[in-house]
Amino acid sequence: MSPFGLNPSRPLRAAVLGATGTVGQRFVTLLAGHPWFRIEALAASERSAGKAYRDAVTWIQTRPIDETVAAMTMHTIGELLDRDFDIVFSALDAGVARDIEPEFARRALVVTNASAHRMDENVPLLVPEVNPDHLDLLAPPTDGALLPGGIVANPNCSTIGLVLALKPLHDAFGIDRLSVVTLQAVSGAGLPGISSYEIMDNVIPWIAREEEKLEIETGKILGRVDGGAIDPARIVVSAQCNRVPVVDGHTLCISVSLESEPEPEEVREAWRSFRGEPQELGLPSAPELPTVYLGDDEPPQTRIHRDLGLGMTVPIGRLRECPVLDFRFVALSHNTLRGAAGGALLAAELVVARCARQTGG
Ligand code: NAP
Repeated sequence: MSPFGLNPSRPLRAAVLGATGTVGQRFVTLLAGHPWFRIEALAASERSAGKAYRDAVTWIQTRPIDETVAAMTMHTIGELLDRDFDIVFSALDAGVARDIEPEFARRALVVTNASAHRMDENVPLLVPEVNPDHLDLLAPPTDGALLPGGIVANPNCSTIGLVLALKPLHDAFGIDRLSVVTLQAVSGAGLPGISSYEIMDNVIPWIAREEEKLEIETGKILGRVDGGAIDPARIVVSAQCNRVPVVDGHTLCISVSLESEPEPEEVREAWRSFRGEPQELGLPSAPELPTVYLGDDEPPQTRIHRDLGLGMTVPIGRLRECPVLDFRFVALSHNTLRGAAGGALLAAELVVARCARQTGG
């Protein structure tokens, strides 16, 4: 038996929507051999439907495709609507996700990376170490189902790194304002992505709708559940987002204004000692440490640090005083792992563990 009473001979049945994209490929890689979830079906656009996964996908991962999955036949999303799944992982564009995800959510738990429903009142915008209590927004499972129906949304990929760095500081010292400048990888733009001519030898200081996402989502994630709704944290966020010629890994240069006046060592210690419910529960995708402090003279660098904790740990460094706000520092988040498929998988594991705990499993 697995730790939460799941029967390994009957793992939870999973579908992946948008399985051929940058995030979908990460789902396929992470789900291969997962102890609790088994891929039952893959879907993408009409362009891919009817092909074997290996023929539909432009594979950009360093690990080869799992052989069983490679041979699976691709479906359109509509073809999967009447099938029974316990969980649906969505890596769809927001425009496609908007109408289709609520359809799947009637019968299964949908864990999505798309932005379409992130700010919906009844949708937890979840970073498992930061706001696990927001899962209380989901209705309990019905009709003997193992998992609740409904949508759990993964935040924007930069927002995830930001709130993981902020959470220990907000809990200990209170944050009232912050400024964040992002340096974002090209994999964040999906496939086929930005052309080499656009991004080589270049920095593009604009990413569509990205700054608004960082500014709005942060308050919801750091907010409190109050009377079945989220009371957002009142933190003023100023974001400036840049696309840079890096394959994976979003760098965040952050300045914060705090309500109290901690010593720098107290700030470092807040990151070092930070743990969340996924670590307490020992969830399969939980890194040992959600945040690590590298050092005052050691900034996180994409190529060197993005894979810490299998891409699920947020490295932080270069803490120093800020002449405008109080402190400034640099954080890094792997955008397709912690910032997308890895974060969504951890969210799904947390829902499963909480449901199993409630049913005594
Ligand atoms: P992507 O590489 O462009 O992949 C999009 C996927 O959606 C592909 O599988 C594509 O299938 C499928 N698709 C496109 N149109 C469709 C349609 N009409 N019906 C069904 N499927 C359709 O995008 P991505 O970067 O993986 O991002 C996926 C989602 O995650 C987006 O909402 C994005 O904002 C979000 N996200 C991305 C990142 C990141 O770092 N990339 C991080 C966090 C969140 P075909 O191959 O058949 O066209």
